[in-house]
Amino acid sequence: MTGKIIKGIAGFYYIHNGHDKVYACKAKGIFRNRGIKPVVGDNVEFTVLDEEALEGNIDEILPRKNVLVRPASANVDQALVVFAITQPDPNFNLLDRFLIMMLAQDIPVTICFNKTDLETEAKQEEYRNIYEQAGYPVMFVSTYEKSGVDAVRDYLRGKTTILAGPSGVGKSSLTNLLQPEAAMETGSISEKIKRGKHTTRHAELFCVEEGTYLMDTPGFSSMYLEEIEPQELKDYFPEFEAYEPECRFQADCVHIGEPVCGVKAALAEGKISQSRYDNYGLLYQELKNRRKY
Ligand code: GDP
Ligand code: ZN
Repeated sequence: MTGKIIKGIAGFYYIHNGHDKVYACKAKGIFRNRGIKPVVGDNVEFTVLDEEALEGNIDEILPRKNVLVRPASANVDQALVVFAITQPDPNFNLLDRFLIMMLAQDIPVTICFNKTDLETEAKQEEYRNIYEQAGYPVMFVSTYEKSGVDAVRDYLRGKTTILAGPSGVGKSSLTNLLQPEAAMETGSISEKIKRGKHTTRHAELFCVEEGTYLMDTPGFSSMYLEEIEPQELKDYFPEFEAYEPECRFQADCVHIGEPVCGVKAALAEGKISQSRYDNYGLLYQELKNRRKY
């Protein structure tokens, strides 16, 4: 049978059969044969060993579309990052870090602001402008009023999507609204595992509807930008590109202290948002300082 790994805990992999069942599986043999470790999101070929207990063994990992390091996962199509429009006010530095991290892994991101019931239209316009100017689609929802949720559902349909965002913004409320009515039958080993202690939270997929998966990730509070060189950081701000030909030092310009800079000119004209530019500067300094160690 084929299925998708939705969770991995303590040597067991939970395989969703695409419909209504989740099998608790081991991966005996595949490490030895190919040396690839299964990850959440992997599509696999597996053998059912006990249909009653929903237990099986993974025989093969099917070819991957992509592999993400953070969160460790495979076959991710896109990400939805959720912030509250207020309560708590969005931390745009954190959001911009997330956007960079996803861009570095070639994952398209849509930004979703929740709790529109608490705020004025003006705030929505402001936030929409900042991120649409940067090239990101922006959605607004209120899980309280159930507004905007259909647009989220449409965005997710048929895809595997990473759901991210700090705690308190309404991710659980949103996933609850998206949950299918029918519960899934899950392999009995999961019950034994649940009683065991696992301190680290791992990424986990859940099936919203057939072919549609949402990946719940451990909530993030900080984000480390490891592999990016300071002078490469500008390439992760897509809105800079159009103005870079105006920079005197062209590809060498990091758009901070240089004279005659197209990006700074665009900032002055309001074509690039101050918030994004300020976060760019902060992250640039952070990457530069890190290189001293
Ligand atoms: P999570 O930590 O991101 O999973 O957020 P929760 O779903 O637990 O929600 C955090 C808090 O925000 C809870 O007190 C919710 O009742 C509240 N909340 C969630 N959605 C909304 C919303 O649309 N409007 C308002 N005003 N509060 C919300
Ligand atoms: Zn420049």
